[in-house]
Amino acid sequence: MTTDTIIEAAERLATLRDSIDRAARLTQRTADAINLIAVSKTHDADAIRPLLHAGQRRFGENRVQEAQDKWPALREEFSAVELHLVGQLQSNKAADAVALFDVIHSLDRPSLLTALARAMDSADKRVPCFIQVNIGAEEQKGGCAIAELPALIVAARAADIPVLGLMCVPPADIEAAPFFALLAKIAREEGLERLSMGMSGDYETAIMLGATDVRVGTALFGQRPSPARPVPASGRGMLRNSRA
Ligand SMILES: *Cc1c(COP(=O)(O)O)cnc(C)c1O
Repeated sequence: MTTDTIIEAAERLATLRDSIDRAARLTQRTADAINLIAVSKTHDADAIRPLLHAGQRRFGENRVQEAQDKWPALREEFSAVELHLVGQLQSNKAADAVALFDVIHSLDRPSLLTALARAMDSADKRVPCFIQVNIGAEEQKGGCAIAELPALIVAARAADIPVLGLMCVPPADIEAAPFFALLAKIAREEGLERLSMGMSGDYETAIMLGATDVRVGTALFGQRPSPARPVPASGRGMLRNSRA
């Protein structure tokens, strides 16, 4: 790793923090109020290290196995890494996820809740979770239906799983803002404080609508070799559009 790659990573991080701060200020907050999760899925340790050197400590992965392959070694090199699971979780991987991750963003169904509660009990570790909501009611998508959310929150609390807030991935290729606004409204109604929403194409919009945790991959690491989900060619965010 050259000094140049570290400087380049630091610059990308600074640019991103600037636009996060600008969006936050428009809603009377600052960048300090926003947790930036650098989504490093598909990128190997060599691609991740420059960002760690540049000071980033909060990272997101979407597959348990891939995270197990990469992060134990990186955690030996760098202290205070905070690892977030942002992808779908199968119940049979619950114990592995509880062992590895600091925050889980994809709690979305009773069977997974049961598996996570059991895994947390036997590990004697509580991993804070976001409940993922299928905000666009898309058939193939993860996340609990809006109508099922209140019961899932009650069940999580009964199982002593800390619920931080709500998470969503809005439908691709249409304006994300109404979905972010809807998630924020539901979180308010449920008395939940944090909102995990916003990706490279729309994090500014998400922040303006109340996001506390943004999950940004492409804007920090560049395009993924084969995107795990299609990345919009241009941003869908309101700010981004207005600048174009
Ligand atoms: C990949 C991924 C992201 C990051 O997406 P980018 O468009 O690369 O910023 C965020 N959230 C989830 C759930 C993801 O799978």
